[in-house]
Amino acid sequence: LIPFSGSPLDRAAHLRLDGEWLAARRRDPASLILPMSRLEALVTGDPLRAAFLAPEFCEGVAASDAVCVFLGLDGGRACFALDVAEAERAVLGTHGEFRELRGVAALLPAKDLAILGQAKATVDWHLRHGFCAKCGATSAPAEGGHKRVCAVCGAEHFPRTDPVVIMLATQGGMCLLGRGRKWPPNFYSCLAGFMEPGEDIEEAVRRELFEEAGVVAGRVDYFASQPWPFPSQLMIGCFAEVEGRALKLDNDELADARWLTREEARALLKGEFEGLRAPPAFAIAHHLIKAWVG
Ligand SMILES: [Zn+2]
Repeated sequence: LIPFSGSPLDRAAHLRLDGEWLAARRRDPASLILPMSRLEALVTGDPLRAAFLAPEFCEGVAASDAVCVFLGLDGGRACFALDVAEAERAVLGTHGEFRELRGVAALLPAKDLAILGQAKATVDWHLRHGFCAKCGATSAPAEGGHKRVCAVCGAEHFPRTDPVVIMLATQGGMCLLGRGRKWPPNFYSCLAGFMEPGEDIEEAVRRELFEEAGVVAGRVDYFASQPWPFPSQLMIGCFAEVEGRALKLDNDELADARWLTREEARALLKGEFEGLRAPPAFAIAHHLIKAWVG
């Protein structure tokens, strides 16, 4: 299973339409509320886990119009993500600690990580989309936080999921890894880029490889996908066979790129490749490389 996927929650989309049911669950002692602040989730414990709180602990910690997203059902219990008011951030500190998701992704159980990813991506979308993209008026959350509606023109807006192709290019027993211009030193990963309108996945893979590295890809094979809540991507992982190993880098995108043998890629994943760092195990790039060396 790829990290950030595999949520145990039943999203129960039909219940999002029932405003009375949602309001009752917000007060139901059995419900579970995940507080979020500055897009950081409340986590607690050792080993670390998501800090879901009973509604009684969340009274008065959020503004009346705060973003509250119905994430789904855990068994029969309703789960919500709640954007906590800035002034109340410290109040909830007694129940855990607000942590940025990327910093705790390697520490959380897979199920918690999937739920927190959904929560972060959805709350983030609300906070960045307060105005109607059609007429510019203020919009408001609806259907348990799964859409926004404009009070003036009635337009409906839905959470974004932006598809990104991420691919491991291979040629003659070697694979291509690159280093983005803004990445930490020595960090190498698969090449990637946003899909454009009118493209299929294979076309996007071939375009990105040619634009960024100057290599011409033939066969493209789908591997797996990954929801990536930084802020709202769907990573579409592929393998791509390219025709030759000569590189012509786009220096605006990449600081460097290099070909690795299977042995070198294996060492990289183990942290035993001198001077190079692999993508973390919670990123799909790690799993692409791992599948290829395996
Ligand atoms: Zn509007």
